[in-house]
Amino acid sequence: MVTGEIERQLEELLTESGVVAAGSGPIAALHFDAHQARLRIAAGEADSRHFTFRNPQRAATLQSTFPWSHGYVAVAVPYKTAREDETMVAGYAQHRSYAQLRAALAAAVATLRAAGYRATSLYDANQAFDKALARRAGVGFIGRHSLVMVPKVGARVVLGSIFTEDVLDVRIGRRFGSDPCRGCRRCVDACPTGAIRMPGTVIASRCIASILQQERWSVDDRRVVGTRVYGCDSCIDACPIGWRQRESTVSAPLARWLREGDRELLDEVGHWYIPRRDAFYVRRNVANALRNRGSLRPDERNALAQLCLANDQRLRQEGLRSLLGVRWDR
Ligand code: SF4
Ligand code: SF4
Repeated sequence: MVTGEIERQLEELLTESGVVAAGSGPIAALHFDAHQARLRIAAGEADSRHFTFRNPQRAATLQSTFPWSHGYVAVAVPYKTAREDETMVAGYAQHRSYAQLRAALAAAVATLRAAGYRATSLYDANQAFDKALARRAGVGFIGRHSLVMVPKVGARVVLGSIFTEDVLDVRIGRRFGSDPCRGCRRCVDACPTGAIRMPGTVIASRCIASILQQERWSVDDRRVVGTRVYGCDSCIDACPIGWRQRESTVSAPLARWLREGDRELLDEVGHWYIPRRDAFYVRRNVANALRNRGSLRPDERNALAQLCLANDQRLRQEGLRSLLGVRWDR
């Protein structure tokens, strides 16, 4: 198949798979992004045990991961967020948006392979800077909140890339004509922890999405995460770009998450990043969210009482802390 044909076929297939923006380019070392990551680790603003911060050099040099690859196609798949200031589970984790992204990437890789190209894909992986790849491919603009924004949808997108032997020319979606953040700081003002410092920089250790995954919490951490259980949408949701992508909230089944066994719980929320796949983190966050909400329904009260009898001492403490800290409604 000639290159132009496979490029148009990919554009069609990705659009049908729900991709709202895509761009492409040659594989080049992302030295600037690796340098920024190292600076942030040195300044104590990022956890070197997590994600691309674990090995910025590897994430910057995709040639060493895929020596046969010369080009890539970056894609963005949209999701919706809830119309609430403080959602318990962030939009990208609620809507299984990653399942749609995975399907789009798999379909594109299969199409390329069928046409005789060597190809593979990555998303949310330690080996690649998703945001940098998307920015360089022209998929979107990095907003003041440090996330990739796409016209009409804003930062309500999950990102991934397809790596190929050849440099292809693939383009989907519109591009911003000018800096969309000019004269705006809504995301900065909406951040509950002041984690957005410079344009395009978030202090990871102060970001609630990261605090919710940390093992140890200070009293302030317990308070500042509010009623969130996983992720934080506040900066994304404050952004006027993509407000139409908001919908009414589906309440999280908090009592059930406290009650059910580890296997069932991890089956349900296994697409979240959970340190060491330890269900404790989910239950601790639920118990803390209930305490911060300040009132309990009967099923939630019973589930917390059950938590006080758990084998894991950490869970017993969380259950007790939550029960003692809330007002008991009838
Ligand atoms: S995700 Fe939440 S805590 Fe993190 S920068 Fe955005 S608003 Fe702030
Ligand atoms: S809220 Fe304003 S400053 Fe923040 S990302 Fe959106 S447009 Fe940019």
